[in-house]
Amino acid sequence: MKLKIVKGTRDIYGDDVARFQYIEEKARKVFSLYGYQEIRTPIFESTDLFAHGVGEGTDIVGKEMYLLEDRRGRSLALRPEATAQVVRSVITNNLMQQSSHLRFFYFGPMFRYEQPQKGRFRQFYQIGAEYFGVPTPDADLELVLILRQLFREIQLSEISFHLNTIGCQAPDCRPSYKNKLIAFLETHADALCENCTRRMHDNPLRVLDCKNDSCIAVTADAPKIHDAVCNECRDHFSELCHMLDAHHVRYSLNPRLVRGLDYYSRTVFEVFSDNLGAQNAAGGGGRYDGLFEIYGAKVVPAIGFALGLDRLALLTAPEKKEVKPVFVVGTDRASVCKLVAACREADIICHYDPFQSSMKSQFRQANKTGAWKVLILGEEELKQDLVSVKDMQDSGQVSISRASVVEHLKKQLSV
Ligand code: AMP
Repeated sequence: MKLKIVKGTRDIYGDDVARFQYIEEKARKVFSLYGYQEIRTPIFESTDLFAHGVGEGTDIVGKEMYLLEDRRGRSLALRPEATAQVVRSVITNNLMQQSSHLRFFYFGPMFRYEQPQKGRFRQFYQIGAEYFGVPTPDADLELVLILRQLFREIQLSEISFHLNTIGCQAPDCRPSYKNKLIAFLETHADALCENCTRRMHDNPLRVLDCKNDSCIAVTADAPKIHDAVCNECRDHFSELCHMLDAHHVRYSLNPRLVRGLDYYSRTVFEVFSDNLGAQNAAGGGGRYDGLFEIYGAKVVPAIGFALGLDRLALLTAPEKKEVKPVFVVGTDRASVCKLVAACREADIICHYDPFQSSMKSQFRQANKTGAWKVLILGEEELKQDLVSVKDMQDSGQVSISRASVVEHLKKQLSV
């Protein structure tokens, strides 16, 4: 059997793992400052959850979901995103009964059958946040500020936000705008790509974010949604913009930004890092005040974002943490193992040569691992119940009794 990895997936190890951990660690810190708690949801759910919430007509549900059937014939999907799931969890666990507002964050793998390319995988990782219960724009502001702070923490401060409002379901808001847009698109149908000709009636907003040159040209003159939303949505958006200005957030209004998923309402945004280029968003999100209702639950205003960890990892260079490992060399395996274990139990990073090669070779390995001190258990030391501690920086050497060597190292580590 010839082993190979599945297309669009990858193993993450070595420096890549360090990058992932670095970003996750910084994200945990920022989330805790804002009062967000971690939530871990399953990686598969009933297919209906995504079909109803994300929307049957979206690419994610229509073309990109990994579907499986369990042994009883039930249709399950590997999660393509986590917002629908977190909402499901809040509903099924009755979490809104415990508090008027809730904040969650998550890390984890998502699955989409997309064409793999640089920074795009079929299994990829997201960091996300969801804020439930607060209808006012300070919740929207909070998520933007979290993103800005997180990017600063990982040394990527050159970022900008794209912002739009896509209104709500009130008849004089998005539905009325959709009709205007469809009327506009019908008069330009010849110039639209095949995909957009097909979806212009069911999902006309998606035509606005089509990447086809001809569709981009046609829609340049299309009616703008932020001019067409209802008064409440307009006030929400302008209040948010004022707040962002007051917090010196760098953003631009992007009337093409609609974020493909059905559940969004009002504010939608994407965040770009100057280092990733204009094509690739590092993350995006928006308000989804109607999603609870779609699932038959009591209305809960909500807003969230998801960041692509794989893309962020391409850009970050974690600070190297100073570590001080020791390396035990010796002629007697049992004594070496004992000292190694005693060091590790005392929280000292400790290595040794499991093959017990010659002393010379053990020293070579100690050098290679960047040991701070080498603990020598040679014939002489064993006879006298001592350990020679060699400092690898200045080559100075002291002899310490075996019983007190761990204490001696701990003292040195704490200065
Ligand atoms: P979305 O909700 O689709 O906008 O995804 C949010 C973020 O997740 C994007 O801005 C990307 O950074 C990341 N992302 C989405 N799909 C993929 C993928 N297939 N591979 C890697 N990252 C992705």
